[in-house]
Amino acid sequence: MSNPSLLILPGDGIGPEVMAEVRKIIDWFGARRGVTFDVSEDLVGGCAYDAHGTPLADATMAKAQEVDAVLLGAVGGPKYDNLDFSLKPERGLLRLRKEMDLYANLRPAQCFDALADFSSLKKDVVAGLDIMIVRELTSGVYFGEPRGIFEEGNERVGINTQRYTESEIDRVARSAFELAMRRNKKLCSMEKANVMESGVLWREVVTEVGKDYPEVELSHMYADAGAMQLTRWPKQFDVIVTDNLFGDLLSDLAAMLTGSLGMLPSASLGAPMENGRPKALYEPVHGSAPDIAGQGKANPIACILSFAMALRYSFDMGDDATRVEQAVEKVLADGLRTADLLGEEGRAPVSTSEMGDAIVAALDASL
Ligand code: ATP
Repeated sequence: MSNPSLLILPGDGIGPEVMAEVRKIIDWFGARRGVTFDVSEDLVGGCAYDAHGTPLADATMAKAQEVDAVLLGAVGGPKYDNLDFSLKPERGLLRLRKEMDLYANLRPAQCFDALADFSSLKKDVVAGLDIMIVRELTSGVYFGEPRGIFEEGNERVGINTQRYTESEIDRVARSAFELAMRRNKKLCSMEKANVMESGVLWREVVTEVGKDYPEVELSHMYADAGAMQLTRWPKQFDVIVTDNLFGDLLSDLAAMLTGSLGMLPSASLGAPMENGRPKALYEPVHGSAPDIAGQGKANPIACILSFAMALRYSFDMGDDATRVEQAVEKVLADGLRTADLLGEEGRAPVSTSEMGDAIVAALDASL
C-alpha cells in the first residue's frame, strides 16, 4: 500500500512557524513509529500571491485534490490589505474549501485540565469538556441567492437568502452521525424551526437520517437556546450539528469556553474519495497573527492538534491521534506555557520551538 499523502500549506505570518513544529511530529512518526507520510509543501495566501500573482496557483489546487489530506497554517497579513478582493490571501483558502467541496466543518471544543482556570467560565463548568461542533460550510445564508444591496422605492435594501436543499442537509447530518458513532453516540441538532422554514426542513431531514443511526441519541434544540445551554452547562453535549450561520457563531462561542485561540484545531471534510477517505483540510482556527509573527511567540498546539485530527479522520490512526493529544496534555500539565497561555501570570513563557520540542519529548516518553 502506498504511504499516506499530505500536502502542507504553511501560508503566512505565524503559519510557517507553527507548521515547522508539526514537521517535527511528522518526522517523529517516521523515526519512531515507522509511519512515513508522503509530504509535499506548497504556497497559499499572501506568499502565493508574491510568488505567482494569485493566492492559490492552479497546480497547488490540483495537488490538493489528489492527496489524502491537506494541512494549512494560516493566511493573510497587513501587507495584502489593499489587494483587490479576488487576490486577497483569504481567497486562496476559500477556493480550496469550495473546489474540494468541504461541507462539514468540525470544530472541537476540548478543555485540557491544566488550562481549566484559563476559561472565562467557572472551572467545574469547563474542566474535562470535550464536545464537537459540526458546522455546514458550503451553503446556507452565506451563499444563497438572491443576495446583494438593491434599490427599492426611495431606499436601499440588503438581501441574503437562507437556502438549504435536502441533500445538503442530509450529507452534513451523516457526517455528524458518523462522528457521534465514534464518540459518545449523542447528537444535538440546532436550528430555528420555530421561525424559519429552512429550519423546519433541517429538523425533518436530520430526523430522517437519524433512522439510519438508531444507536445515536438524537435531540433538537433551537439555536438561541443552544447558545444559552453551551454557556450554562456545555458538558451536556457530545456532537452538535448546525447550519453555516449558527455554526459560525456557536463554534466560536464553544471554542472560547476553552481559553486561547492558540489551542484550537479544526477539520473541514467533504465527500469520500475513491480510497474511502473523505476529502479533508485541517487547519488551526487562529489566523496569521501578524502582531507576533517572526518572534517565536506563537503557540504551535492548535496546528499540532489539527494534525492529530488528520491522523484520526483521514488516516485511521485514532490511537496515534490520542497519543499526540496526550503528549500535549502532558506538557501543559508539566507547566509549559507559550505567552498566550500565561495571562497575567509572572512565569516565563516557552518559545514556539521549545513547545514543539517538549511535545516530541513527551511522545518519546509515551513509547
Ligand atoms: P484572521 O482574521 O485571519 O482570523 P485575526 O487577526 O482575527 O485574523 P488571529 O490572527 O488569529 O486573528 O489573531 C488574533 C489574536 O490572537 C492576535 O493577538 C494573535 O497574536 C493571537 N493569536 C492567534 N493565534 C495565536 C497563536 N497560535 N499563538 C499565540 N497567539 C495567537
